[in-house]
Amino acid sequence: MIKPVLAIHGGAGAIARAQTTPAVRQQYEDALRAILAGGERVLAQGGLALDAVTEAVRLLEECPLFNAGYGAVFTKTAEHELDAAIMDGRTRNCGSVANVRTVRNPILAARAVMEHSPHVFFVGQSAEAFAHEQGLERVEPSYFSTPARREQLASAQRSGSESIVLDHDAAAATAPLDERDKMGTVGAVAIDCHGNLAAATSTGGMTNKWPGRIGDSPIIGAGCYANNATCAVSTTGKGEAFIRAVAAYDVSAQMEYAGRSLQQATHDLIHNKLPAIDGAGGLIAIDAQGNVVMPFNTEGMYRGYIIQGDAPIVAIHR
Ligand code: ASP
Repeated sequence: MIKPVLAIHGGAGAIARAQTTPAVRQQYEDALRAILAGGERVLAQGGLALDAVTEAVRLLEECPLFNAGYGAVFTKTAEHELDAAIMDGRTRNCGSVANVRTVRNPILAARAVMEHSPHVFFVGQSAEAFAHEQGLERVEPSYFSTPARREQLASAQRSGSESIVLDHDAAAATAPLDERDKMGTVGAVAIDCHGNLAAATSTGGMTNKWPGRIGDSPIIGAGCYANNATCAVSTTGKGEAFIRAVAAYDVSAQMEYAGRSLQQATHDLIHNKLPAIDGAGGLIAIDAQGNVVMPFNTEGMYRGYIIQGDAPIVAIHR
């Protein structure tokens, strides 16, 4: 029997260590711990990795500190367009949605696509109509808005209308990572007691992004991938580079075709391949033996993991 493990991330980015008050840091760390505990409950009851990552990402979407679901960033036209993906390593079944504006929990819509449609990827109004048919909760687009995100958009637009900011862009002092340079996608990877792997990723994208722009997060193989034979991966970073690198699948492919370890494969991706194409960011990943890695090439990444029965480990900076 494998000891179940769950890992989560809440985005990578630059440090604002000096300006961060202990209280603010505590707020982020407490949120990460509570969300890990929520996901771990699923695994502790003998639940599937797939259910644990669904629950962890749903909780991250509900938390306004992170750029997914409630608290998502704004597009150039001051709207929210949300993307999410999920993959089951047992079967390599997967589901994604992109550009949704009214689905409260995009990750639940992605899971419904996987389980209740013959397809793997829906976008825009059709994705919303499908989620509605599936009985998922819908909200007014303004539900996702928070004053902090609105200020981030204003700030990005003040520095030039073409400034597309990796996630939240509030004052640097308001969060441990510099919100002007933070990628705030959320994600989870898990292995359950049966040795099944699963991955899930959800995002509001990037502040001041062009309407209709889709990043890596909902793209299977770029922002999310799971295969019981190799690993489960969820990424965060500059989506365009992660798509060009086919990032999440690259880790699995290195393991499968080159016999590399999870540690070697993710190190190569994050510290060699992505920097070569201006790919700032990081990832979380678990292999079939339950090893966890959380590499990033930015100053920090909100992250944490929990091995069933142990205390959760959370971190922000290096
Ligand atoms: N990868 C996300 C995107 O490009 C951004 C992020 O990680 O914050 O949409």
